[in-house]
Formats: sequence, structure tokens, C-alpha cells
Amino acid sequence: MNVHESEKLAGILKNRGYAPAENSQQADIIVFNTCCIRDTAEQKILGNIGAVKKQKKLNPELIIAVVGCMSQQKGAKELLQQKFPYIDIVLGSSNLHELSSAIDKILLKRHFFSNVDDNERPEIIENTPVYRTSGTNAWVNIMYGCNNYCSYCVVPYVRGRERSRQPEAVLDEIKTLIDGGYKEITLLGQNVDSYCALSDNGWNFARLLENIAKIDAKFRLRFMSSHPKDFNKDIVDIIRTAPNICNNIHLPVQSGSDRILKIMNRKYTAEHYLSLISYIKTLPDVGITTDMMVGFPTETDEDFELSLSLLKEVRFSNAYTFVYSPRKGTVAADMPQLSADIKKQRITRLVALQNAISAEISQEYQGKNFEILVEDKNAKYDGVLCGRTESGRLVNFQGDAGLIGQFVNVEIKKTKAASLWGEIYVGK
Ligand code: SAH
Ligand code: SF4
Repeated sequence: MNVHESEKLAGILKNRGYAPAENSQQADIIVFNTCCIRDTAEQKILGNIGAVKKQKKLNPELIIAVVGCMSQQKGAKELLQQKFPYIDIVLGSSNLHELSSAIDKILLKRHFFSNVDDNERPEIIENTPVYRTSGTNAWVNIMYGCNNYCSYCVVPYVRGRERSRQPEAVLDEIKTLIDGGYKEITLLGQNVDSYCALSDNGWNFARLLENIAKIDAKFRLRFMSSHPKDFNKDIVDIIRTAPNICNNIHLPVQSGSDRILKIMNRKYTAEHYLSLISYIKTLPDVGITTDMMVGFPTETDEDFELSLSLLKEVRFSNAYTFVYSPRKGTVAADMPQLSADIKKQRITRLVALQNAISAEISQEYQGKNFEILVEDKNAKYDGVLCGRTESGRLVNFQGDAGLIGQFVNVEIKKTKAASLWGEIYVGK
């Protein structure tokens, strides 16, 4: 979501005639696109904003903008202004389309401009220019905001209520992207399974998927994130029959303990989650990934063991693992917190277990052939390309850079925990 928002910010700048600077020292404008989902993300961005103070002093014409969900937090604008008085522009995540008019105002008067309007249901802005940087893949928002209020999460407070884009707008954008040569589309939303649930236009996520899958072209479709309370078997059945939709599902579980899931306000049980997983596993060669958190307030050793057991039972191909980080204004931030020590011990065990599972799953790919969408050159090795299987696994293989953006068949020759190595296979 953040990467795609940066593409929109870059698109707005490009439309004004800006081009990417070779390095930040040469920039005329620096835009920080912030995230406040965890404290580590916030601390990092504060460090980076602090680091441009000298540059601004040497070049007072330099424009500095801070955009995104961190600036949208209550009181953040005042805090940013006080800590970094050299910031010119502060815009919230729902106001990023105002970057161009904010620059106009700064150029004319050169005094501070901000809009972190806390309208809970900001209008959906269509046709924001996008400067796409993600190669063969194009991100497409299908909805904005979130209504779920998981007790640890700041998203509903900084991104407002759930709003779905019109299906026609989504389908038009995807058709244009495919006509423009994109080979993979990734749909984005905080909870894609509730697409259009709040409108009476008769659409839902399954219908959207069906309609995208009907587009007559060779491309891959992925989506994230699904929510186990809304994800359903219909979606799996559509994936089964639509060759364009990848057998790859990101289904964040967060915890394996029903007691913790309840306090997290996730609205499902581990048993329900596992029943969805067994249905998803009826898809051939499916890649299932998740988000899991440790150290949520009151999490006991038993709760944590339940998370480990769930990981072992499902055997995700990959898991994004997080240490719980209290976020101001959320329900869980006011609960008694666990010590940093316990959190550290638990995340270490969780990561070690998942790494072992990922390595085992990699081995299952050995000797098999897969269709790969060639995405890029390998950053480290000359003459080596990389791409993904339909299930989402990264594969490296020798090949000519002219193949980027094409589909090739690759036989897997060597496996590592996080990546696979293979050879292009010209089969009968
Ligand atoms: N809407 C998506 C996730 C958005 S945030 C969903 O519901 O799955 C991405 C991930 O960040 C979450 O799945 C969660 O695991 C993690 N996360 C969110 N808030 C967090 C917090 N306060 N501390 C640690 N991790 C958090
Ligand atoms: Fe946050 Fe929960 Fe909404 Fe995901 S579903 S964005 S975790 S509140």
C-alpha cells in the first residue's frame, strides 16, 4: 500500500516536470512517505527527516514534505513542526493528491502548508497520476481505509472508514494496465474480502475477481490482504477455475490462541482459520502466507505455544512476523504490556520455526517445473534473472534480460530457505 502511494506521489511530481534525483543531495524536493503501523517505522522516518536539516540549511529553496499515515495521527503535525521547523508541507494519507497544490503554495509564499483533515470518510480520488516503479507488476487499490478496529491497529484511525472504489473504475484501470504491457496485477485493500460490502451495488470481491479473470489476455492476478472473518470458499472456487488468478493467498492470522484473537477483536477462532486453510489447500501448488504477531498484551507462554502449533500445522510458505508495538489511541495500548525480553525471546523462536518450515517447503520444489513470470535481473549475480512461481516463490535462473516481462518454464535445480535456483526448460 505504501509503495503504491509513493508511486502516486512520484506521479504527481512527474506531472509537474520533476524527475528522480540521482541522490537526495541533488534533490529540489524531498517527500517522506511515512508509516505508523509500528514504532520502529516511525523512529526510522523521524531519523531520516532529522538527517536533511543540514541540507535545508545549505539550500533554503529545498522543499521538504512529510506525507502519509504518520502525519495523519492526532497531534503529529504539531509535533513534526516543533521538532523539524524546516518542514514545508505536511499531508495526511487521504490528502496526498494535494501535493501539487501544496507545492504551488510553497513556491508562491514559502510558508508552511498542511492538510491532515481528519474527515473519517474522505472522498475517493480517481485518476491520480502514478509513476510506476514495480516493473512487471502493477498495484491497484480496490478500497481504502478499514472498519475492523483490531485492538492493536492504528490503520482505522489514520486511514479513515472503509471505502470501495467503483468496480468500473477498477476494471478500466486494470484493462489499461494490461494493454500497457503489465503482466501482473496486485489488488490492494486492508480487507479485500469486504469489497463493496457497504454498498448496495450488488458487487462483492468474488464478483470482482470473476470479472477481472474474464479479461482476455495472459496476465497474473494477486490480491492482499484477506481477512479470515470475511474470506470465503467462493473465492477459492473462483481461483480454482480462473487460470489468471494465482494460487497464492495471504491470510493474516496474527495469533493461534482464541483468547488472544478475541482481545485482538479479530472475530474468528483458530478452528475457523484452519478450516479455511484446509479448503485453500485443495488448490494445486498453492502458496499460503500470513502475518503473525508476538507479545500482544497478556499473551502467556500457552498462548504463544498455540501460535507455534498453528504455524506447524498450516506450514505457511512464508510468514511476516511482528513484535507487538503499542500504538497511541488503540485499545491494546492501554492494556498491561509484556516485557521487551519476553517479546524478544518469542520472536526469535517464531522466526526460527518459520525459517525451518520455509526451507522444508523450498525442498518440495526440487526437480519440478514451473511457469515463471520474469521480473528482473538478480541484483547480485550477472546474467541471472529472477521471477516468481504462481505460488509466489522467488526463483533465480540464467537468462537474457530481454526475457523480463515474459513467461518462461523453469526447472528447479537447487533450493534455499527463501529462494529457489533453476534453469530455463524448453519442454515438449
Ligand atoms: N489489513 C491487514 C494488515 C495491515 S497491517 C490485515 O488485517 O491483515 C500489516 C500487519 O502489521 C498486520 O497484519 C499485523 O500483523 C501487523 N501490525 C499491525 N499493527 C501492529 C502493531 N501495533 N504492532 C505490531 N504489528 C502490527
Ligand atoms: Fe488493522 Fe485489523 Fe484493519 Fe487490518 S483489518 S488494517 S489489522 S484494523
